[in-house]
Amino acid sequence: MVPELRALIEIQQIDVVIREIETANLILNKQLEREKEEIAKKKIALQKIVERKDVLQKDLRHNERMLQQIEQNMEGFEKKIYQVKSQKELEAVDHEIAKARKEKSSMEDILLTLILEIEEISKTSFEQEKELKKETEDFNCRSQKIESNININIQKLSETNAKKQEIITTIEPSLLANYERLREGRNNLAVVQVEGGMCSGCFIALPPQQINEIKMSNSIIRCNSCARMLYWKE
Ligand SMILES: [Zn+2]
Repeated sequence: MVPELRALIEIQQIDVVIREIETANLILNKQLEREKEEIAKKKIALQKIVERKDVLQKDLRHNERMLQQIEQNMEGFEKKIYQVKSQKELEAVDHEIAKARKEKSSMEDILLTLILEIEEISKTSFEQEKELKKETEDFNCRSQKIESNININIQKLSETNAKKQEIITTIEPSLLANYERLREGRNNLAVVQVEGGMCSGCFIALPPQQINEIKMSNSIIRCNSCARMLYWKE
């Protein structure tokens, strides 16, 4: 085999490995990103629930003070009953008392609704907080493993690249440039094996004469269809 073709085959194998490692890291990084976004979204959702709960609690305190005020007013009116001097005054006080009772009753309804709503939202926020805490812990644990895998891959990548650089020095620069251009335009594959009488890059059947030339391997022979460099593996 032409020595340069042998070196190119080796580089091609290295480039396949490099692409595999790069793809693996891309997937791992995307996974990390996606999971981070997921948790951030849940944090925002929880924050909104907590804010809503605060508003409801403020409402509740405000309405409780209003109820107290209504009750104080009622006490005042009830005392007044004993001090009235005429039927007309009695009717007026009775009217005030009836009005205050109505206010009290509707305020109690409002408070009850608020209390139920706060109970519900407290339950939801407690559950979601618990869930988020668990998910964050799980993610932190997972992300440590993912990041360690990413770092292992980066290390592998640098070793593999170093190996490629070593072999590159044995290849004539214009042939190497040719290889790199072809690889770029041919989905990372510039040097391919003949398999079942076909170019394993584009799967076109090769003429028997060409296969014989490839087997003799006195020069670098390219596929007529995809221009990839071909080799015969015994
Ligand atoms: Zn081809």
